[in-house]
Amino acid sequence: MAQISKNARTSSATHHFYCPCGGEIKMKTIFENGKVKNIAECEKCKRVERRPSDFK
Ligand SMILES: [Zn+2]
Repeated sequence: MAQISKNARTSSATHHFYCPCGGEIKMKTIFENGKVKNIAECEKCKRVERRPSDFK
């Protein structure tokens, strides 16, 4: 059990991505055509990409 909590800590989604504008990118869950979709949106310039890595 101790190992599980240790793994949970290292794999927790605490990665921070930043847009070229300097804003922080937040992950959002939206519904599109009845499907759940995850998108990445910049807090500052409201740019939206499919993945946080697409901002680079
Ligand atoms: Zn931005």
